[in-house]
Amino acid sequence: PKTEIRNIIPERVELSANALAVLEKRYLKKDKAGNPVEKAEDMLRRVARTVAAAELSYDPKINIRAVEDEFYGLLARLEFLPNSPTLMNAGRELGQLSACFVLPIDDAIESIFDAVKHTAMIHKSGGGTGFSFSRLRPEKDRVGSTGGVASGPVSFMRAFDVATDVIKQGGTRRGANMAILSVDHPDIERFIKAKQTAGVLTNFNLSVAVTDAFMEAVRANGEYDLINPHNGEIVEKKKARDIFDQIVNLAWKTGDPGVVFIDRINAGNPTPHLGKIESTNPCGEQPLLPYESCNLGSINLSKMTKGNGRKSIDYDRLGYTVRTAVRFLDDVIDVNKFPLPQIAERTRQTRKIGLGVMGFADLLIDLGIAYDSPEALEAAEEVMGFIQAESHKASEELAASRGTFPAYEKSVYDGRVKMRNASCTTIAPTGTLSIIAGCSSGIEPHFALCFTRNIMDGTKMVEVNPYFQRASVEGGFFSKEMMEKLAAGAHLEDFKEVPEAAKKLFVTAHNITPEGHVKMQAVFQKYTDNAVSKTVNFPADATVADVDKVYLMAFDEGLKGITIYRDGCKADQPMSTGKAE
Ligand code: UDP
Repeated sequence: PKTEIRNIIPERVELSANALAVLEKRYLKKDKAGNPVEKAEDMLRRVARTVAAAELSYDPKINIRAVEDEFYGLLARLEFLPNSPTLMNAGRELGQLSACFVLPIDDAIESIFDAVKHTAMIHKSGGGTGFSFSRLRPEKDRVGSTGGVASGPVSFMRAFDVATDVIKQGGTRRGANMAILSVDHPDIERFIKAKQTAGVLTNFNLSVAVTDAFMEAVRANGEYDLINPHNGEIVEKKKARDIFDQIVNLAWKTGDPGVVFIDRINAGNPTPHLGKIESTNPCGEQPLLPYESCNLGSINLSKMTKGNGRKSIDYDRLGYTVRTAVRFLDDVIDVNKFPLPQIAERTRQTRKIGLGVMGFADLLIDLGIAYDSPEALEAAEEVMGFIQAESHKASEELAASRGTFPAYEKSVYDGRVKMRNASCTTIAPTGTLSIIAGCSSGIEPHFALCFTRNIMDGTKMVEVNPYFQRASVEGGFFSKEMMEKLAAGAHLEDFKEVPEAAKKLFVTAHNITPEGHVKMQAVFQKYTDNAVSKTVNFPADATVADVDKVYLMAFDEGLKGITIYRDGCKADQPMSTGKAE
C-alpha cells in the first residue's frame, strides 16, 4: 500500500549562501534602489499562488489555497523547481514563464528581422531561442528584388548575436541561442567554422542537423548532395566523410559544432500533422515546432530517498512529486503571458511540458553507486522509466478532467491514449536551478569534489562537496590539506589515506570515459519524450579520432544530439552546462 505523502511546509527554505546570492542578484523582486523586497519564501509563494490560480478556470469551486499550499510545499522543500523564468516572472509584470522557444526564419529580409525582434523580446524575459537557418538561400546567391547577392545564413546569425549582446545588459539573464543548419545546405562548411574566430557568435551554440542518409553516407564513405533551399537545385556533391571530419575536428578544437540527429527528432515528433521540427532550444534538450515554447521543471532526486546510511529511492514520494509537478507545469501554460500571439497559439495547441531531474549524481552517492558503474545505468533506467510512466499517467488523468491538448487529433496519441500534453519529459541542464536547490546539476556527475570560490573582497575559500565532506569525516580521512590540494587540481587517486570504495564512489566528470557519458545520456534518452542535456567530457589529450568515435556512437546509441567538451579547449559557450560555476 502506498504511504500517504503529507504536505509538510517548512517554515524556512534551506538555502546555501551561494543560492541566496544567486536569488538576490536575479530572482527576487527589488525596489527602485535595487534592494530585494521579497525573501526566497515570498518568491516561492508568489510562484505557487500565480500558478495555482490557473485551476479556478477548470473548477470555480476548487479550494485554491490548498492547491497553492501543495505547490508551495513542493518548492519550499526544494523537491521540485520550475525553470528560471517561472521563478523570476510569475506574478510580476512580465509574466513570461518559459525557458525554451523556437522561432521560424524564412528566406526573406522581413522574416529574418522579425525573428531578431522576437528574439530580443524573448531574451528580455529570460527565455532562450533556437532557430534553423536552413531555409535561407546560400551566400552569393542572387537576390531578385535588388539584383545583388545574398549574405547567407552565417552573416545573418551575426544580427541575432548583436541583438543578444545589447539585450543582455538590461534583461533578466544572458540570452542564449541555438543555430541549426541542415548538413545539406550549400553554406554548411562556412557554418561549421562560424565560431572559430575568437569573440564571434559568442551567444550561440551551433549544431549541424544531420540526416540518417548523411550518417549512412559517412559510414559507407559515400557522397551526398548540397541543395539550394531557395530553388531546390542540387549545387554540389560532397563526400560525407569530409564534412563529418570537419565537424569532428572543430568540435575537438572548440566544442562547436554539436550535431542533432534531425530524422530521429522528427521520428519522435508527437504532432507531425502540425509540421516538421527544425530546431531545438539553446542547450538542445527541447526540440520544438516553429513558434512553439515549452516550460520546464526539474525534480531534485537528492530529496527522493528514504532510510539511513545506504538509502533507497522513495518511490511513493517520487510518484507524488511527479504528479504534482505535471499538474503544476500544465497550469503554467494557462497563466503564462506569451511574448507573441503566434507563440501563445502554438504552445496552447500542443501544451508541451518538460519535466526532468537534477541531483542524479547526489542520488547515486546516497544509494552507494558509482556514476560510471553498470549499477548506475540500471538506476537511471529505473528512475527515469518510472518518471516517464508516471508523468504520462498524470497527463492522462489531467486529460480526463481538462480535455486533451487541442492538437490531439492526428497526433501520435490519437486513438491510443488521451493526453493533456504532447510531451511530458525533458532533461534540462539546471545550471541555476541546481545552485538554488543545492544539488548536482541535471544528470551530470560531480564536476569537482572541492573548488575554490572567490569571495567579493578578494579572499578565496575552499568549498567542499557536502556529500564528500560527510563521507570523509565519517570515514576518518578528512583533512584541510587534502581539500586544499583537491581544490588546486589534485585527484582523489593521489591520496593513500582515501579508501578504495570512496575513490570509486566519488568519481568526477573527468574520470568518466566519454563513452561512459554517452551511455548515461542514452539511458535517460530512452525514457525522455523530448531530449537530454548532457556534456560529454574529454580529457585535454583526447584525439580527434576519440571525438569521431563518440559522435558515431551517439548516433548508434539513439541520442537525439550530442555536444562535447574537451578540457582546456577554447569553448566559448553562452552558458556552462555541467561545468563548475
Ligand atoms: N536558458 C537561457 N539562458 C540562460 C540559461 C538557460 O536562455 O542563461 C534557457 C535555454 O533554453 C536552456 C534552458 O533555459 O536550454 C534551460 O537551462 P537551465 O536548465 O540551465 O536553466 P535554469 O532553469 O536552471 O536557469
